[in-house]
Amino acid sequence: MPELPEVETVRLGLEPVMKGRTIVKAETHREGLRTPFPENLAATLKGRKIASLERRSKYLLLRLDGKKDAEILVLHLGMSGRIRVVKDAAAFKPEKHDHLILRLDNASAMVFNDPRRFGMAFLIKDGERETHPAFRNIGPEPFSKVFTGAVLQESLKKRSSAIKQSLMDQKLVAGIGNIYASEALYEAAISPFRKSSEITLKEAEKLVETIRAVLESALKSGGSSLRDYRRADGSEGYFQHHFAVYDRAGKPCPRCAANGRKSVILKTVQGGRATYYCERCQK
Ligand SMILES: [Zn+2]
Repeated sequence: MPELPEVETVRLGLEPVMKGRTIVKAETHREGLRTPFPENLAATLKGRKIASLERRSKYLLLRLDGKKDAEILVLHLGMSGRIRVVKDAAAFKPEKHDHLILRLDNASAMVFNDPRRFGMAFLIKDGERETHPAFRNIGPEPFSKVFTGAVLQESLKKRSSAIKQSLMDQKLVAGIGNIYASEALYEAAISPFRKSSEITLKEAEKLVETIRAVLESALKSGGSSLRDYRRADGSEGYFQHHFAVYDRAGKPCPRCAANGRKSVILKTVQGGRATYYCERCQK
């Protein structure tokens, strides 16, 4: 499932093609995805200029100019959603699962493909960015100044759940899912099973640091594949990134190996999601 770095990478890839362009034609090829598309979505989008592309948590926000009551097209990639750019929109024929297509005035098109249809596309008013049901319960962005160790610890104090599950809760911090929760806990040397309320201020401060570090590192490798993303027709929107623990069960723990110790990464299931960790150095 795409998390903050993946969505931000998609946003950075789309921005140079889409910002300031006008949607000459919008096409929907089914009634909706996880939720129905808004009524008359295609007609609403036609002729609108894309003023900006922003991101909030795992949502992509396309702010539309051109009318007094500016609206925002919100896209969520769900589990399997992919957005690609087609350079020659005139010759483009939609493929299977291409559910939403925005044809632009620079001859290119944005194509939203989603085989499993857990994604979403909906419209909000400009003034609803904080109050809309999809956004009102989302916590601070991890790179924002308001996300500090003290703030994190305060939110953790009220929770009896395991720290790994708390980090994946969007109310606590925006944009972190299974992958980066595992990675941030590993880098902070904190066990994913620790009770949230027992995380100390020092550990919460460390976690803020490692959350930012793992996201930044993923964003950097996203940047390198972004060139391929633009060059290769946008067929591959995501990137290959080296993880320390995620999807590395049975492999040696890098930190223990660096300290001359032997330990392998373990995999378990927490709240229905896979957790990867090292028993020896995460306490
Ligand atoms: Zn280890």
